[in-house]
Parts: sequence; C-alpha cells; structure tokens
Amino acid sequence: MLIDGAMTYRVAIVGAGPSGFYAADGLLRERPDLRIDLIDRLPTPFGLVRAGVAPDHQGTKAVIRQFERLLAQPDVRFAGNVEIGRDVSWEELQQDYDVVIVATGMVIDRKLGVPGEELPFVWGSWRFVAWLNGHPDFRQGPDLSQVKRVAVIGNGNVALDVARVLAKSADEMAKSDIVPDAGAAIAAAPISEIHVIGRRGPEQASFTNNELAEMGRLARAAALVDPAVLNVAAPAGDPTPERLRKAKNLEILKGFTNNKPGSKPIALHFVFNTPIQAIKAGEFDLVITCIGYAGEPYPTGEGVFAVGWAKRGPTGTIPTSRGESHAVARQVLAWLKDRDLKSGPDPIPQAVDAAGWHRIDKAEIAAGAKAGRPRVKLTDWQKLLEVAQGH
Ligand code: NAP
Repeated sequence: MLIDGAMTYRVAIVGAGPSGFYAADGLLRERPDLRIDLIDRLPTPFGLVRAGVAPDHQGTKAVIRQFERLLAQPDVRFAGNVEIGRDVSWEELQQDYDVVIVATGMVIDRKLGVPGEELPFVWGSWRFVAWLNGHPDFRQGPDLSQVKRVAVIGNGNVALDVARVLAKSADEMAKSDIVPDAGAAIAAAPISEIHVIGRRGPEQASFTNNELAEMGRLARAAALVDPAVLNVAAPAGDPTPERLRKAKNLEILKGFTNNKPGSKPIALHFVFNTPIQAIKAGEFDLVITCIGYAGEPYPTGEGVFAVGWAKRGPTGTIPTSRGESHAVARQVLAWLKDRDLKSGPDPIPQAVDAAGWHRIDKAEIAAGAKAGRPRVKLTDWQKLLEVAQGH
C-alpha cells in the first residue's frame, strides 16, 4: 500500500478500548511506520475506560491521556461509529488489512440462570454501569424512587463499584462524571440497605484490597459483616500474591466488624456463603448481578489475533491488558515479518475520526466545567454524531 510514498502494513484493531490501544502501543514501539485503524462502533473511544470504569474512579480513567497520545500519531486513525456487520464485515477487514486484532471486550451480562432473573427489578452490572457512565445504548436506568433494599450479587470489584456508587452521597459523587440523571436518581433514592452477596466464603472473594478498604470509608454507609463468617484463613494452596490479597481482605473485613449498625443511614452488609437459588419479588427492591460477562463471537484464522477480555475472558484489570496486548503485538510483528503487503482502497472511508471525537470531548468538558465536574457526557446517539460532525 502506498501512503505518502511509503509502503507499510495496514492494521485493523477492532475495539478502541484499553486492550486495543495497548496493542497499538505495542506495535508502534517496534514499528512506528505501521498504519493503524482503531475501529469502534461508538463515536467515542476508550471502551471500558469510558463505559465500564466506575464514574467516581477518575484516577483509573486518567489512562486516557496515554491513549490520546497514540491518537495524536499521524498514522493512527480512530474510526468511530463503524459497526462490524453493518458498515463493514469481518471478511472485508480480513481481506483489506494485513492484520486484524480483535479487541472487542465482553459486553454481555452473564446470567445467574435462576428463576426470577427476568423480573424487571433485576439488572445486570453491564447494563447498570453503562447507564451510570452515559453509554448511548443504555440511557434508561432502573426506577430508584422506591428502592430501599438492594442486593448486589457477586464478590468481585464490579460488585464493589456498584455497591459503592449506590452508597455514596451526592457530595462524594460531585467530582465524578456520573450521568446527571443517574446521580440525581441515586441521591433521591430511599436506599437503607445494600447487601453484597457472595456464593462462597470471604476467603474466596475476588475483591482487591484497596477497593474493599474503600467500602469502609463511605460517608453515608456503614460496612457490616457477621464476625462468625470470618473465622477462616486464606487458602494455603494459593500462589503467594493471591494468598496475601485474600488474607488482607479478611483483615479489612474484620475491621468492618467494629462498625455499628445504624451508625450511618445505609447499612452495607457483606454476606457470604449464599448461592442464589431464585429471585423473588418482595425481598429486594433492586437486584444487580455482578457475576461476569460474555462476548460476541469473532472469526479466527490467518492474520487474526485477539487481545484483552475478548481473548482471555472477563478478568484482569487495565494494567493486566497492557502486558498481554504488548505480548500479542510482538506475535503480530513476528507474523507480519516479510509478508507481502496487501493493497486496495480504504475499507473504511466514512467514520467519526479523532477530530470528531475531540469535538465531543470538548463539548463534554465544557458542560462539566459549568457543574464543577470532569465532564458531562453526551448520551444521545444523534447528538453525539452531530457534535462529532461539528454541528
Ligand atoms: P470477578 O472478579 O471475576 O468477580 C465475579 C464474581 O461473580 C465472583 O465473586 C464470582 O464468584 C461471582 N459469580 C460468578 N457466577 C456466579 C453465580 N452464578 N452466582 C453467584 N456469584 C457468581 O469479576 P468482576 O467483578 O466482573 O470484574 C472483572 C474484572 O475487572 C476483574 O478482574 C476485576 O478485578 C476487574 N475490575 C477492577 C476494578 C478496579 O480495579 N477498581 C473495578 C472493576 C473491575 P466465584 O468466585 O464463586 O466464581
């Protein structure tokens, strides 16, 4: 292919989330001449960082600055509002690009598979968190106006994110970029109890230490746990880092036993050893399942590589993806070595590019500045596309 007189390979990365950006980063470290298209169905980049990371964890979202530096490189193109199957097929991508990297993540809520799961007050964490985060496909949240008792099912960091955002006061959320409607609905909800429910014991919870400890520092919620369930040890057979993490979790939970029920408006109960057999109306007013995700199928074969959650399933943090995407990038470069270049017209002539995204970014930051927040997100598809186009 001829670009500015130079021959170079053309790489499609499908999914402009962290694993996709880290794959681009890994490739460019070795081969700055590559031409990379970061394709996303949304008109906004950053995937899980924008739609999944909790809106009050702005420190985690700061990774965006690194990704923006990649977008600023001349041969890296953001191609937003491009949907595989609608605008271009996997086959066309495989045909037209020298390499296709699948970085589509996992965006389908895993199911408990129990009776009652389809009741309207049962929400999957992806749908719920996407609403808090202003994903344009999830503009409707649950009706919180009568919600007093909440069950959050699962013992991972997503369960903590969900419980924490529901438990935090409006003041604690003031510097977040939670969608204003969601923030107002949570602040006005009459929530008095949140139960974080694990099917196994506290020594098996997958919470990380800092995230669990944060639950003990909330202004309007007292973290509570029955001391009797804490009479366990971290599994001796686990590898050392896991064992240490679990032992520290038990220590943090023991600290919660000093908290007094009724000392704060919300009782935040950690409940263990409680598999869910069925969900019935009346017990809880809102149930949010935080039990992991599934992904859409994607093609495999010559010249197709996967990264991130699409590759390894829905576990691991953003830094985990960094190392893994870099390793895949090295495999891609080894595979590309000495391969004949493909050539042809640009397979994606029409897209929201980085300039379009920056118009959205600027509008959101300006709206946020008025409210003393990092940004107020645009959540309407039409509006996002209009702003991207400069209207
Ligand atoms: P996770 O850590 O794998 O936790 C999933 C939880 O769901 C586990 O406690 C699991 O229990 C439970 N579960 C699965 N099936 C269940 C069922 N049928 N009934 C009851 N419980 C069930 O995953 P996650 O919380 O979705 O988080 C995904 C990844 O993102 C994790 O690596 C996490 O650390 C990361 N993350 C990080 C942050 C952060 O750093 N602040 C924030 C959010 C997410 P079992 O253990 O018994 O299977």
